[in-house]
Amino acid sequence: MSGPCIFCKIAEGAIPSRQVYSDEHCVAFLDISPLAPGHTLVVPRRHVTNLLDCSADALVEVTRALPRIASAVVAATGATGLNLLQNSGTSSGQVVMHLHFHLIPRCEGDGLGYRWNAGSYAAGEAEAIQDRIARQLQS
Ligand code: 5GP
Ligand code: ZN
Repeated sequence: MSGPCIFCKIAEGAIPSRQVYSDEHCVAFLDISPLAPGHTLVVPRRHVTNLLDCSADALVEVTRALPRIASAVVAATGATGLNLLQNSGTSSGQVVMHLHFHLIPRCEGDGLGYRWNAGSYAAGEAEAIQDRIARQLQS
């Protein structure tokens, strides 16, 4: 059993959801507060907090079915595009602390959008952060 995690309970069927897909590794169901009709969440059956707490193997397992589910969401809603969103950590907007992928069907002019406050690098800043990230990946 899973403790208090709501998405563990949904994956187990212990609390109801509008499920659209399941396999041995993942479950997909409608988001209860959709950004658009058909907004779907895909979650691993095994509890993982988020991408920062996820092994490569666990990620492969849960994302194997994503292309199929995404295509079904788009076809079923008549959308022409889709956003894949994954929030990791409270500062990113993660509220439910069980890894999940949002599949959000999109249409031209649907009014959905991000505040995408793009910035720019000061002199030397990009090189410094490039170096720090690359070093992390070497250690
Ligand atoms: P987050 O902000 O953590 O990335 O997104 C969590 C999502 O889970 C939200 O979009 C929210 O509407 C959805 N959600 C929260 N509780 C439930 C629930 O009990 N059932 C379903 N189907 N969705 C939920
Ligand atoms: Zn969980």
